[in-house]
Amino acid sequence: MRKVLMSACLLGRKVRYDGGSLSVHDQLVERWISEGRVVSVCPEVEAGMSIPRKPAEIFGGNGNMVLEGETDVVEKGGNVVTDDFIAGAAIALELCKKFNIDIAVLAESSPSCGSSFIYDGGFSGNRTPGMGVTVALLRRHGIQVFSQHEIADANKAIHATSA
Ligand code: SF4
Repeated sequence: MRKVLMSACLLGRKVRYDGGSLSVHDQLVERWISEGRVVSVCPEVEAGMSIPRKPAEIFGGNGNMVLEGETDVVEKGGNVVTDDFIAGAAIALELCKKFNIDIAVLAESSPSCGSSFIYDGGFSGNRTPGMGVTVALLRRHGIQVFSQHEIADANKAIHATSA
C-alpha cells in the first residue's frame, strides 16, 4: 500500500497560523483515507509552534535558500523562526522514511508546504514562484510533492509508482 503524506490543514485539522484549516473535499482524497494511505503532518506544529501563531514568510528567496543558510523565515514583527521551520521539515522527512512515502500533497503558498508558490517576505500578500522549506527538503530526498490543486496528478503518481 503506497502511502501519501498530506498537510494536516488540508485534512480539516485547525493547525494553520490563524487557527483555521483549508479542508479539501475531494473524492480521491476520501478514497485515499478509506484505503489507509494518508499520513498527516503539520511541520510547523510538529516543530512546537503554537496555534494560533504569527504569520511567517521566507524573507526573500525560497525553501532551498533557507536550507542553505542563505535566508531566514521571519514572523510578522521580525522574530526569526528558521530553526523551527527546518525542524518541521526534518520531522516530515522522517515520517516519509518511516512509512516509505515518496509522494506528498501539501498546502500551496505556505512557507513550509508551498510547492509552486510562496509569499515574497513582504507581508503584503504578494506571491512569488518558489517552494517552502519542507517541500525543498522532501524534494532533495526524491519525494514528489503536489499541491491541493494537483490531486488528480498525485493520484496518478500513487498508482504509477505502485504498479
Ligand atoms: S500549510 Fe503546512 S505548516 Fe501550514 S498549517 Fe498547513 S500543514 Fe501546517
